[in-house]
Amino acid sequence: MDVSANPIPFLDLKAQQARLGPSLRARIDAVLAHGQFILGPEVAELEARLAAFCRAAHCVTVSSGTDALQIALMAEGVGPGDAVFLPGFTYTATAEVPLLLGATPVFVDINPATFQIDPAHLEARIAETARGGKLRPRAVIGVDLFGQPAPWPELRAIAERHGLFTLDDCAQAFGASLHGTRLGHEAHATATSFFPSKPLGAYGDGGALFTEDAERAALYRSLRTHGEGASRYDVQRIGMNGRLDTLQAAVLLAKLDVFEAELARREAIARAYDAGLGDYATIPARVADSAGAWAIYAVLFENAAERDATQARLRAEGVPTAIYYPKPLHHQPAYAAAHDGAVLPVAEDVATRILALPIHPDLDNDQVARVIAAFGPV
Ligand SMILES: *Cc1c(COP(=O)(O)O)cnc(C)c1O
Repeated sequence: MDVSANPIPFLDLKAQQARLGPSLRARIDAVLAHGQFILGPEVAELEARLAAFCRAAHCVTVSSGTDALQIALMAEGVGPGDAVFLPGFTYTATAEVPLLLGATPVFVDINPATFQIDPAHLEARIAETARGGKLRPRAVIGVDLFGQPAPWPELRAIAERHGLFTLDDCAQAFGASLHGTRLGHEAHATATSFFPSKPLGAYGDGGALFTEDAERAALYRSLRTHGEGASRYDVQRIGMNGRLDTLQAAVLLAKLDVFEAELARREAIARAYDAGLGDYATIPARVADSAGAWAIYAVLFENAAERDATQARLRAEGVPTAIYYPKPLHHQPAYAAAHDGAVLPVAEDVATRILALPIHPDLDNDQVARVIAAFGPV
């Protein structure tokens, strides 16, 4: 068989559409019929279902995961002079948002086994920042990287000791759980994304905020609609145009019906990779007492040469891969001016030898076996 003519899709939204069947069209048609494209009834229905799904007291949907992070920090008044601690190994949005608000991201190193933020280094960075006297330690953004939970009990204890606001960047991990509870309660606020490739993806941009705090939820609702007060033309604060489209809410409602089954499928694929790849690469360590949402499944090689050679060989076998992330954020030109010059040895090293494999609910067992076989002896 000419496998290169039959490449495995890295992401397969068409197969998912076919699997969802008529429910998706029915949901979209209902929106076209009622015509309430902004904050239509599907938005409130989705917020209720998402809150129930992760047992959060409040869910406020917004226009993207990035806007969710921004609204959460705006609600706390984070701004100039504030230090926001976050991992140096994450998607750019996590670090972009503090800078947009005039605050300063302070990059923290990661654990090489789980790729999650390193609590000991967080503690050191807070102490350094406090000693420096230029920035006020203000907030910690924990990222549930690749779909596994960040070390929340440790992060919360450190944040409490220093009086910091905690924000869970759960963009890659909606549906994951820690100690038997779905993510959504680990921090003062949880932000997620419905970008199409995330575990719960819309057909466009979208996001949501979760909190147990009614006052925060009310602020988020105000901030997503230009800081409105009790009525539309009562402007209480500077906000954003940050609402989730009704059409995206309709798509997400259809997708929620199959989401648990999709999470189970992602977990089964992760286990198959764990079992099949350990001889050829370092498989990701499991965060204790957790279930991942497996937005990304990434393995580590000994060095960059081995990673790059394997990537080329897999490509020739019709197995697509991706590198998340080829450069830690503190090495990105956009963050050079804000970065204090700290070295993050683990993030810097991991970036040179990590490789992400296809993982999505429509990957069948034959395709998973093909990915594993492509690693095998040639
Ligand atoms: C995708 C992502 C975001 C941003 O989400 P968008 O919906 O694309 O704005 C933020 N943080 C992380 C870790 C992400 O992976």
